Amino acid sequence: METIQARKVCVRGVVQGVGFRPLVYQLALRNNLKGHVFNTSGDVTITVEGLSGDMESFINQLRANPPPQSRIESIDIEEQPVEGFQGFEIRESRIRKDEYQLVSPDIATCRFCLSEIFNESERRYQYPFTNCTNCGPRFTIIEDMPYDRGNTTMRRFTMCPECSREYNDTDNRRFHAQPNACPICGPALKIIDPSGNDVTGDPLAIAADLLKQGRILAIKGLGGFLLACDATDDRAVDLLRKRKKRGFKPFAVMVSGIEEAKRYCDISREEEGLLTSPQSPVVLLKNRASSNGMSFLVAPNTIYIGIMLPYTPLHHLLLEKTARPLVMTSGNISEEPIAAGNEEALKRLSGIADYFLIHNRDICSRYDDSVAMVVNHKARIVRRARGFAPYPIHLTYISASILACGAEVKNSFCLTRETHAFLSQHIGDLENLETLEHFEDTIRLYKTLFHIEPEIIAHDMHPDYLSTRYALDFAKTNGLRCVPVQHHHAHIVSCMADNGVTEPVIGVAFDGTGYGEDGAIWGGEFLLADYSGFKRLAHFEYVPLPGGKAAIERPYRMALSYLFKIFGDDTFSLDLPFLKNADRDEMDLIRTQIKRRINAPYTSSCGRLFDAVSALLNIRRESDYEGQAAVELEAVADISVDKGYPFEIMEEKGIRVVSFDGTVKAIVEDIAGGIPASEISGRFHATIADVILTVCRGLVEETKIEKVALSGGVFQNRLLVERTIKRLESGGITVLTHHDVPANDGGIALGQAVIANYVRG
Ligand code: ZN
Ligand code: ZN
Ligand code: FE
Repeated sequence: METIQARKVCVRGVVQGVGFRPLVYQLALRNNLKGHVFNTSGDVTITVEGLSGDMESFINQLRANPPPQSRIESIDIEEQPVEGFQGFEIRESRIRKDEYQLVSPDIATCRFCLSEIFNESERRYQYPFTNCTNCGPRFTIIEDMPYDRGNTTMRRFTMCPECSREYNDTDNRRFHAQPNACPICGPALKIIDPSGNDVTGDPLAIAADLLKQGRILAIKGLGGFLLACDATDDRAVDLLRKRKKRGFKPFAVMVSGIEEAKRYCDISREEEGLLTSPQSPVVLLKNRASSNGMSFLVAPNTIYIGIMLPYTPLHHLLLEKTARPLVMTSGNISEEPIAAGNEEALKRLSGIADYFLIHNRDICSRYDDSVAMVVNHKARIVRRARGFAPYPIHLTYISASILACGAEVKNSFCLTRETHAFLSQHIGDLENLETLEHFEDTIRLYKTLFHIEPEIIAHDMHPDYLSTRYALDFAKTNGLRCVPVQHHHAHIVSCMADNGVTEPVIGVAFDGTGYGEDGAIWGGEFLLADYSGFKRLAHFEYVPLPGGKAAIERPYRMALSYLFKIFGDDTFSLDLPFLKNADRDEMDLIRTQIKRRINAPYTSSCGRLFDAVSALLNIRRESDYEGQAAVELEAVADISVDKGYPFEIMEEKGIRVVSFDGTVKAIVEDIAGGIPASEISGRFHATIADVILTVCRGLVEETKIEKVALSGGVFQNRLLVERTIKRLESGGITVLTHHDVPANDGGIALGQAVIANYVRG
């Protein structure tokens, strides 16, 4: 007869709070195994005793069918002496010093919970905080690990007998679901006015009525407050824009389900998958919403609109009751962080919201909605937060513990440990104290959750970024070494790490602004790069940025910079519509700024070239949000036009310099010749793709490196990305693009962290 054996099985990954232990329990019973299972700070530890064949099938079943929201990273199996257990049990969690666990992101409501809240005979009928081990809040309520209710903001709610029964029943979907709650024992909704007075009645019904009347509501969600209004009501959307001080930047819209989404947008199979995924991000979709009843003011002058589906029971119930699409935008004024606490929201949002739909479950970490899009049939993240962070990016090497502080706009930071790069959720534009505080708090939280004490601090080379100053202070206080990282090098390495590539690449880093090694503002860069360094092989020709920041906000200044460079004083007599309403005094001033080099730093920025063309075409003279001029230029482009304009590649001290004088001249001629903006924009996009192909071809030949990585905010332009990939691939070049990490500055911190590990010296 075969003898009983014993094994210790350690499973690492996202294995807590996702129904892992009950599954282990059931599989153990099914395979006649005895022993126990418990969570530790580092893994799920299983001890099983039984016949070797049974143990093998136990492991195989675990591997083949793990709980839907879990992610197994490794399973280690060790032989053990047999102790002779009598049954199988789930034991208390254990804390192990210095070990760490992955933390699950928040997960959109699962279909089982959804059917409960819409079923009158269920005790959670209409209950907005329904969740289970497959769905609900996670990261936003976790204060410490291991993931037990006592370490979450659900601690203050004592479960009623019925909830306790579910929580302790291994066969129940809510077994050890830490946020488990019901109408009797769990969090509750309330509606208040801006003075903090309660409004009596059913909060959801009142909220729905207010929204239908065109009111603006601040609604407390998973990771903070969202501002909501009726997306079909022009007046309401306009009012929200005015109060929030948001001119044109598109709002995201929540619709009741995938069928409704299809009424407003063209949706591909991949986009549908993304919309309905457990991460439930905002997806940027081809917009035909305003011709189907949605207000044009939701996403003016763009071809894409951000749509998301309800991701909490609260949202599902609200959408059902209002029966219309709702604008859902972060609860803040312009670029401040999203408001999270009830008191805080009242203070900060009382000038915006007419009423507040609040609840008493505290939010531990601010967590914005993620934004993603599908390009070339692949999902690409644009803003990485809810549903994704704090799940790590996997490194191909074992890293030192590093804190990388990221860039300035769209900041996120990155903490590394072993093979994990914990790229934080989107923090925001580090330009005010509130955002800096959010940045500092979140760093503290990640350090606590993942037990990371950084040994090295990485930061952008820009001396004035708040993130750089924070890095220098932190390093000084703790006696740590600092590694400054060039902005575009970080972009390219972030793209390499996103693709698990370690060998050198030719990096094409196109964005708006990045501090260059020569003090100029870079942004149209071709680098030979790997994890340890880079060489600038080619870049766009330097042109003055007249007025610095003023030129970024007013694209017509950039257009004038190009015109003065090419036409000199003849610019004043050019026959261009965009010059007709130009202010002659300001033009003179700009001319002087450029001539005398007063506050007119040199830039090789690709983003600024898009701005210039957008202004030349009279599409966008002044910009209200980052990238607007380029977004609107892309929006008008005739995508059937594939022939570019001329450009020139010069050599300066062994570096290729791309001049766009010929491009701008041709555009000016086309405008004068009455060629429509759609055609000119199409040709301009084709030109940039041509430039990338021509330069990369030369560099591939010279370096024998056949991989090209595309990174930087400019590569959020789908038309450009699609064209570029097509050209490069048909030229036999392998192209790396971003997927899990944003191409914009939200991905910089990952690149910094990787580089800092390799230039340790
Ligand atoms: Zn559920
Ligand atoms: Zn209960
Ligand atoms: Fe950048």
